[in-house]
Amino acid sequence: MLTLQSISKDFGELTAVDDVSVEIESGELVTLVGPSGSGKSTVLNMIAGHLEPSAGSIMINGTDVTPLSPQNRPTSMVFQSWALFPHMTVRENIEFPIEANGEDVDGRVEELLRQVQLDPSEYAEKNADELSGGEQQRVALARAIAYDPEILLLDEPLGSLDYVLQQELRRELSDLNEELDMTFVYVTHSLESALIISDRIFVLDQSRLVQAGTPREIYQEPKNRFIAEFMGDANVFPIDATLQSGEAVQRADADVDDLVIADGREEEASYLIVRYDRATVAPDLERDMGVEGTVFKKLMKGNTVLVEVVGEETEEQYFAEVDYAEAERLDRGDSVYVQWNEADTVAVPE
Ligand code: ADP
Ligand code: MG
Repeated sequence: MLTLQSISKDFGELTAVDDVSVEIESGELVTLVGPSGSGKSTVLNMIAGHLEPSAGSIMINGTDVTPLSPQNRPTSMVFQSWALFPHMTVRENIEFPIEANGEDVDGRVEELLRQVQLDPSEYAEKNADELSGGEQQRVALARAIAYDPEILLLDEPLGSLDYVLQQELRRELSDLNEELDMTFVYVTHSLESALIISDRIFVLDQSRLVQAGTPREIYQEPKNRFIAEFMGDANVFPIDATLQSGEAVQRADADVDDLVIADGREEEASYLIVRYDRATVAPDLERDMGVEGTVFKKLMKGNTVLVEVVGEETEEQYFAEVDYAEAERLDRGDSVYVQWNEADTVAVPE
């Protein structure tokens, strides 16, 4: 188990990480996600021992590793830019950590290459600088695993790859995590990546941990407005404005107060979050609540269609994700309601 106990990091006046506490079980694949500058890399570097916390401590399996140098921690790190030795062969690049561990290299390079989906007979004797970006990342991953760490730290490792390759390697990382039974701490600013591969997600914003949970919890129950918006694909309504100014209307027999109270955080709730895929669009108000407007655009989104509606009063944009059949009944300029049910809303504080 990896435990971060109230760790902070100051760089002069700037607090890069502010009182972050986290517990990660052995074998978990967790993601630190947050916008650029939120402190993700700083947390990772403190776990690796490249940075010393200004306060707090880091425990691995009950041992305080805070005073230990990186070499003396059971961690290994993979960076966005690959620090392979360009003029050495793939084999030489990977042998280095195996020998540093005092292990027998025979057969181990081959095994590691297979684990990262590279055919040893094709790749082992190539120079690192002959490899494509994706292949270099696979070798860097093999080298990090060669240290046989308990915890693999990955700092935006797919950041420089094209989209298709990112998806492929993301999938492989997730498989590898299961196969090796190694803890992975993965850093990304891409929520999509985090949602797809993680057992649990830790959301950082402005140096602080703002929410921890499973992908499903984070996606469906964002704790504040920032997370809801960061997750994307959500309509965000200020509750006071929405309920009192008439921006949103309720169906005659729906109880709007319940909308807010249902979530149990009514005293602090400032915004109502309605995910695009929980909303729909129709000429009549059939669900509990809705916003009146005009169909502006239909955007194809694979299996579904994203309908953009411009608010009657507010001229704001609202979105609902509907299936093709529903979308076909709608035309630009139609008067409609973007609408949703009470059960499909989440009330969040500022
Ligand atoms: P992220 O990885 O989430 O993009 P970082 O952890 O790299 O964020 O940085 C968090 C904050 O700390 C940023 O404001 C960054 O400029 C600052 N920072 C990071 N490393 C240093 C450093 N070595 N010296 C001074 N400031 C730093
Ligand atoms: Mg970073």
